[in-house]
Amino acid sequence: RPAVMAFRRFNSDVAAFKGVKNAAGKYTVTLIEGDGIGTEISAAVKDIYAAAKVPITWEPVDVTPILKDGKTAIPDEAIASVKRNFVALKGPLATPIGKGHVSLNLTLRRTFNLFANLRPCRSVVGYKTPYDNVDTVLIRENTEGEYSGIEHVVVDGVVQSIKLITRPACERVIRYAFQHAIATGKPKVLVVHKASIMKMSDGLFLQIAREVAKEYPQIELGAELLDNTCLKIVTDPEPYKPVVMVMPNLYGDILSDMCSGLIGGLGLTPSGNMGDEVSIFEAVHGSAPDIAGKGLANPTALLLSSVMMLRHMKLNEYADKIENAVLSTIASGPENITGDLKGTANTKHFTEEIIKRL
Ligand code: NAD
Repeated sequence: RPAVMAFRRFNSDVAAFKGVKNAAGKYTVTLIEGDGIGTEISAAVKDIYAAAKVPITWEPVDVTPILKDGKTAIPDEAIASVKRNFVALKGPLATPIGKGHVSLNLTLRRTFNLFANLRPCRSVVGYKTPYDNVDTVLIRENTEGEYSGIEHVVVDGVVQSIKLITRPACERVIRYAFQHAIATGKPKVLVVHKASIMKMSDGLFLQIAREVAKEYPQIELGAELLDNTCLKIVTDPEPYKPVVMVMPNLYGDILSDMCSGLIGGLGLTPSGNMGDEVSIFEAVHGSAPDIAGKGLANPTALLLSSVMMLRHMKLNEYADKIENAVLSTIASGPENITGDLKGTANTKHFTEEIIKRL
């Protein structure tokens, strides 16, 4: 397998980028640096972009939550920036557990109607893991399902949490999965579900998949129970190569972390939150508070998210350059990679090694 261009086909032309270049021939990209390791990994991306002379201008925005009409909201200037630029690169944002404000990640996805979360995961050539043939593409419904945030106390000691599944949200994400399969030359869409137990909610997701599949007769539709998929992928990832998986929100969140584990961890996996108007690219991982501020973070996941972004923006030449540099740095040995990959380098050294290989 070629060591390079691994993520090239993760470009998807399903919703074309609408941004326009400024007088200097550059696009402006909104940058949300994020919490925890966000500042460190964003700095690495900015340094590498400057060295690669990528024709974009970063527009950093502050997304510290504000209260608007009694609800947590994202500052208006940040919203306006993303709307104006049609694209953003986002570091991780921490969410208080069990209390406090709603997730800003969810708020962003809902604000911009980023209905499909595209999560590719592929073994890095030259970096040894139990399998060297992981090559999965997972599309997660991104706006509802188990993450609707509709929860209430019924009586003391009993709470209900609503899993919301609606026809429009299912249709658009499943259609996206079929279009992505066509755009990337994959023959099959696989719905991952638990309709055996959640007969109505997952049942609706599955039923809509069967309806949408009729619009794409050239693509095969498969369906598999989530637990079965987990078992099968960790036993043998090979059969999942020609497949685009699509699933409700929570399943996609968990299954994609599992796939990350197969290739070396969360430091490696990128994602794109795709909408009709705007797209926001971000790493799959969170703010990693345990290593924040120590110079240990692996910027690869955010960098590869930015590579997906560059392909979305049709800046393929720069995407290739950066992707090749990062993948060949990872393959170059433990002295050049970060601790999460069992290497000994800090973020700065890893970044410098990438820059050397541009
Ligand atoms: P996490 O992904 O932040 O960390 C899990 C483990 O992976 C930690 O040991 C961490 O050190 C390691 N890790 C993650 N990214 C790494 C990187 N780039 N380099 C090296 N090691 C890395 O998950 P968590 O600890 O459960 O969550 C922390 C916070 O992040 C929470 O507030 C959570 O809500 C938030 N979060 C945000 C997003 C997002 O912004 N999209 C996603 C997931 C979690």
